[in-house]
Parts: sequence; structure tokens; C-alpha cells
Amino acid sequence: MPDWVAVYYDEPIEIDRGEGRYVWDGEGRRYLDFFGGILTTMTAHALPEVAKAVSEQAGKVLHTSTLYLVRPAVELAERVAELSGIPDARVFFTTSGTEATDLALLLACCYRRSNQILALRNSYHGRSFTAIGVTGNRNWSATSLSPVQTFYVHGGYRYRSPFRDLPDDEYIAACVADLEDVILTQTAGDVGAFIAEPVQGVGGFTMPPDGLLGAFREVLDRHGILWISDEVQTGWGRTGDTFWGWQAHVPGAAEGRAETVPDLMTFAKGLGNGLSIGGVVARADIMNSLPANSISTFGGSPVTTAGALANLDYLLDHDLQANAREVGGWLLGQLRELAAEQPIVGDVRGKGLMLGVELVRPGTGDPGEPAPELANAALEGARRRGLLVGKGGLHGNVFRIAPPLSLTRSEAEEGFAALAAAIREAGEAAGHEVGGDAS
Ligand code: PMP
Repeated sequence: MPDWVAVYYDEPIEIDRGEGRYVWDGEGRRYLDFFGGILTTMTAHALPEVAKAVSEQAGKVLHTSTLYLVRPAVELAERVAELSGIPDARVFFTTSGTEATDLALLLACCYRRSNQILALRNSYHGRSFTAIGVTGNRNWSATSLSPVQTFYVHGGYRYRSPFRDLPDDEYIAACVADLEDVILTQTAGDVGAFIAEPVQGVGGFTMPPDGLLGAFREVLDRHGILWISDEVQTGWGRTGDTFWGWQAHVPGAAEGRAETVPDLMTFAKGLGNGLSIGGVVARADIMNSLPANSISTFGGSPVTTAGALANLDYLLDHDLQANAREVGGWLLGQLRELAAEQPIVGDVRGKGLMLGVELVRPGTGDPGEPAPELANAALEGARRRGLLVGKGGLHGNVFRIAPPLSLTRSEAEEGFAALAAAIREAGEAAGHEVGGDAS
């Protein structure tokens, strides 16, 4: 395998099986899973409903291609279109989030006849040549060559933003002014689209105050620029308060009375609970604007869409969005208390079951210097205590907590105890190194 594919831990883990919110490694050790294979195990590991749908479909036919009608794909497209809130929506299924980004950018460029794109600093939208072109994170940008020309604006990463000390409304106003300024000073005017993650995933679960993207929308509308919401991580209720991440930014959206909706949305990860499915949902005039044929041989296959339908049913029937809000809200409160006591915790943020903990070197001011070494130490410490968490952020110093949305309160307590102990342990070691008392 290539050198650029990283595995977690000094002694990498082979995950052999899972059940509910737990996984077991090849040696039979059990871990509570707070990362869900990068936010992909959305409902639960080995969910019987999904396993049944997949095996039943596998016993009938695995693959036919989009040349023929695929019943579960049509049903799933109808469900996604309805859930999106986009009027007269069309859905195209891909096999990954990256491919969804690619298609969304292609559609926007064709529709607007412009390859100019606006994106947030600290963004991540995938690994392909095109997706790298809208990546605002040096660690994931292997090349500057790109079919799109991208301009990056402020807003997504408040903790290290020059506007960080402003209250919410002034922070939003400053970011809106920056957006206007970038459009006027850097672009040729005819920008195709603005793409944004409502909560930045790879970027370290950073997020702007609610309302920022809605305020951006007013500027975009004035210039005819399309809004692409990347919901690959934030979709399907993960953020608790809303079903889609963008809905936190538009008044009335959470109650289904949005003043405005994105023109396109991308999704992947959680929908398939591990099956390889992604896609784009967009207004019909945009989706239909492609001036040539296009297919995905594997996209929307019978087996992935049958599994995704069962997964979506389970999510909605059990109102896992409400569970994410409740259990995630409790966890957020605990993490904030930990931050108040622990100087290596610089920032705690997020929504629902998408929570970030940014570690800093103690005594280095506010915002503190990023401490990837402490994040690594605490990641290992959590593993020793039977907890898997994710890591990310521009500086590799942010814990990403994103368990399956069915996480119970007692599992949240168990995971928090392990994480807090690992962070305290790393904090004590850091305190000894700087010669102070870090506890
Ligand atoms: N968009 C976002 C917000 C993501 O987090 C990711 C994956 N981390 C992608 C797109 C790309 O998805 P995939 O890895 O399935 O290609």
C-alpha cells in the first residue's frame, strides 16, 4: 500500500467484527467506537436490518448497471429528493463522497459556464484531482494543478480565525465582508459556485456560528452563484438539531420552512452504513444541465441502495437525530467541563454527535499552540482504555468524536471517562515537561 495512506496507532488495529457501538480486534479485544469508520457507521455496527437487506439483495442480483431500472435505487432517490427540501430535485448516486464532489462541481461549472469556485479555508471535499482543487488544507493538497480555480474565504475555523474574538453577529458580518471582497478583488466576476461543509470534518469539526451560510447565501444570490452544501459528514441528523448541516444557517429550516435551500447537496458516508454509496441531489434544471452523457457503473447498485434504504428507515423510525441531540448534548457539556479544568484543551465545539476537542500546548496563550504530540499521546491512551476516536484538524491536534447515532447514554459515559482519563494523562505529562502543574 502507498506511503501516503496513514494508519492510526503505533501498533495498528485490525478490526475483525462489530456490533452496535463496539468493535473487536483480531485478538478479541473490545473497543467502544467513537469514530464509526470516519462517520460512516451511522446507525450501528452489524445492524440486522441492513445485513438482512444486503443479503437478500445479494441473493437476488448484485449488479445490473444504470442501463436498467433498479427498484431500490429509484425508491432511495425519491426518499433523498424529498428529504433534501430542494424543490423538484433530482438525485444521482455515486460510489463515494469524492465522486459526489466531482459531480457537483462539474454540474455547477456546466450550468454557470464558469470554473471559478469559492470554498472555505480549512475545507476538505475529497481526494480526486478535482476535489483537491477545492481543498483548503495543505496536508491534503498534493498539487496546485486543477480544472477549477478556487478562492478561499474566511469563516469555517473560528478558533484560529482573525475574527475569533468578535461576537457572533459581528463575526458573520466580517466573513460576509470578506466574501464580498474576494468576489470583487480576486475573481473574474462570474463565479460558478460556493462549496462548504456546514461543520468541517477533516478540518477538525470546526464550525461557524449558526446563520453564516444563510448570510453568505444573500451575497451569492446577488451574483448568481450556486450554493453547494457538502453534507458528506453533517447529513442525516448527525448534528442533532437539524437533519442537514446547512439547516442551522437558514431561519425556519429546522421546522421545514426554509427561506432558501442549497442548489446542490452532496452526501455519502453514513447513508450506506459502510456500503459504498454517495451522491448529489440538486435542482432539476442544474442536474439536467450536463451537455453530454454520464454514467457510474457501480453508482446506485442494487445491493448498496437496498442496504442504504434499510439504514435510512432504521434511522428515521428510531429518530436517531433526536438521540444525537440528546446524547451529544450531554457529551458536549462534559467535554466543556473537562476543558475548564484541563489547560491542554484549547477548544471544544461541535453539534449532536459530531464533537471536536482541540489540544494545545499549555501556557501558550489563546488560541494556544497546536499540540499534535499531545493528541497522539491521548489517542494512544484512549485506545489502551478501550476507546477508538478520530483525529484531524489542520494541525492534527483535534479529537473527532463521531460515534454511531444510536449511542446510548451509558456508552457515552463510558467513552467520556476513557477520553477524559487519556487527556488528563497527556496533560500531566505535558505539565511535567514545561515544569508546571497542568492538572
Ligand atoms: N466531503 C467531505 C466533507 C468529507 O469528509 C469526505 C471524506 N472524508 C469527502 C467529501 C470525500 O468522501 P470519500 O472519502 O467517500 O471520497
